[in-house]
Amino acid sequence: MKLVWFRRDLRIKDNPALADACRTGEPVAAIYVATPEQWKSHFVSPRQADLIQRRLEVIRQELEALNIPMLFKVVDNFSDIPVLLAEICQQYQVSDVYCNRDYEYDEIDRDNAVAGTLSLTRIGFHVFDGKCILPPGSVTTGAGKPFQVFTPFKKAWLKIIQSTDYSPLKQPGQIAPTALTKSLIDEAKEIDLRYWHEDSLSWPVDDNTIIQRLRDYCSYRVTKYHQLRDIPSEPATSQLSAYLAIGAISPRQCLARLITEHRDCFSDVKEGPQTWLSEIIWREFYQHVIAINPDLCKGEAFLCWETHISWKHDEILFEKWKQGKTGVPIVDAGMRQLNETGWMHNRLRMIVASFLVKDLHIDWRWGEQYFMSKLIDGDFASNNGGWQWSASVGLDAQPYFRIFNPFTQSKKFDPEGIFIRRWVKELESVSAKHIHEPYNKGYATGSPLSYPKPIVDHSLARKEALSFFEAAKNHK
Ligand code: FAD
Repeated sequence: MKLVWFRRDLRIKDNPALADACRTGEPVAAIYVATPEQWKSHFVSPRQADLIQRRLEVIRQELEALNIPMLFKVVDNFSDIPVLLAEICQQYQVSDVYCNRDYEYDEIDRDNAVAGTLSLTRIGFHVFDGKCILPPGSVTTGAGKPFQVFTPFKKAWLKIIQSTDYSPLKQPGQIAPTALTKSLIDEAKEIDLRYWHEDSLSWPVDDNTIIQRLRDYCSYRVTKYHQLRDIPSEPATSQLSAYLAIGAISPRQCLARLITEHRDCFSDVKEGPQTWLSEIIWREFYQHVIAINPDLCKGEAFLCWETHISWKHDEILFEKWKQGKTGVPIVDAGMRQLNETGWMHNRLRMIVASFLVKDLHIDWRWGEQYFMSKLIDGDFASNNGGWQWSASVGLDAQPYFRIFNPFTQSKKFDPEGIFIRRWVKELESVSAKHIHEPYNKGYATGSPLSYPKPIVDHSLARKEALSFFEAAKNHK
C-alpha cells in the first residue's frame, strides 16, 4: 500500500504527492497527523486550526469517494512523527510514503527525521513540490545564485514560466478498493485536532465554493485590482490567502485560471491581472527566501545589523496595539478587523506593522507572532517576509528611512473614513475631515469621544526611529 501524508496541501486536485501515489495503481491510504504542542510553539491561530479541521472533513470525504481512506492521528510534536509513521507503515504494510515539501526549519527537520527512520525499514519516502508554481532553487541569477531583490526575481520567474508547463494536475481517478481500504473507511473516526478553535465559518471549505471564488475573482474583479487593491473599504482583493495558506487551493490553479481569463497576464502593462500575478510572485519570492534561508525561522533578521537595534519590549504599548486602542484610527481599525475576523487587508498589515516597529519601536518579532496567532491565512514565509519588509530588516525590504505617516496613509487610502467607521464604532459620528486625527486641532473638545488619544507622537517617534536605525547600521 502507498501512504500519502497530508500537511499544508489540503486538496485533491493539483496535489503532486497524491497524484504520484495514485499513478502506481496500488491501494492508497492517506494520513493527517495533528501536532498541537508544535502548533502552539508556532503560534498557529485557532481560526486557522478551525479552518484546517473543517477542510480535513471535506478532504476525507473526497478521498473516500476515490476509495482512499484517511487516517487521522494526534501526537504532541513533530519529533513524535517518525516513530508513528514507521509503526503505521508496518501495521498496514506500506511500501512508500508520499508528501509535498514544506520549506520551514522545523518542518525540514521533521521530514529529514522521517526519511531517516523510514529508510531503516526500506520504506520509500517521496517528496514533491506543490507549494509554489516554480519550486525553490529553480529561479536563480545567471550565476546560479538566489535572487536578493524582488524585481529581477520576478523578471526571471516570468521568463521561466513561459517555457514551463504550469497546468494543474487533475484529480486522480478511483482506486480499486481492497478489504483493508474498505475497513479503514468504515472505521474512520471523528477528526479532532485537540487545539483551540475560533469560528472560521465565513470561509467556506468545499471545493465548489473555493474554485467559484477564484473564477469569479479572475473573471471580473481582478480587472480593477491595480486601481482598488489599496483601498481597504473595497472588496477588491481575492481573499484567497486563507486557502493558499492551508493548501486548499494551489498557486498553479490560481495562475491557470488567471491565464484562462486574461491571456496577456505575463505582459509588461500594469493593469489588474498583471498586478495580481505580481502578488502571487511575491508569495513565491518569500517561499523561496525561506526555503533557501531556513534560519530565518529562528527569529533572525536577514540584515545582520538588525542585532544592534535595541527594540523596546513594552508590554503596555504592545497590548494597546493588539487591542486596537492606540488612538490612531486607521491602525485601530486594522487591528480590530484582524481580531474579529482573522484577516486583515494588505495595506493595513503594512500600516499597523510600520506603526508597531517605527512608531512604538517594538520588536517586529512580537508583531510577527501576534499576527500568526490571529491570522486565518497565517503562513510563515509571507508573514515573516511582510514583517521583515515593514521593519526594514529583510531581503529587499522597505528602506529604514521610509516611515509611513499613519495619518497620511489613512487620508490617502480611506479618504472618507468608511473603513475606520466600520471598525472603530467610537468614531462613527465623526466627519471625514476629522476622522483620521480626531484630536487634531482641538476637534474633540466640544463633544468628548470615548476614543483614546494617540499613545505616541508620530513626528518624535519618527526621529527616534531614524536615529536608532542609523546607529545600528553604522555600528562597528
Ligand atoms: P490578493 O491581493 O488577492 O493577492 C493574491 C494572493 O497573493 C494572496 O492570497 C497571497 O497568497 C499572495 N500575496 C498577496 N500579497 C502578498 C504579499 N505582500 N506577500 C506575499 N504574498 C502575497 N500573507 C499570507 O498569506 N499570510 C500571512 O501570514 C501574511 N502576513 C503578512 C504580514 C505582513 C506584515 C504583511 C505586510 C503582509 C502579510 N501577508 C501575508 C501578505 C498579504 O497581506 C496577504 O497575502 C493578502 O492581504 C491576502 O489577501 P488576498 O488573498 O485578498 O490577496
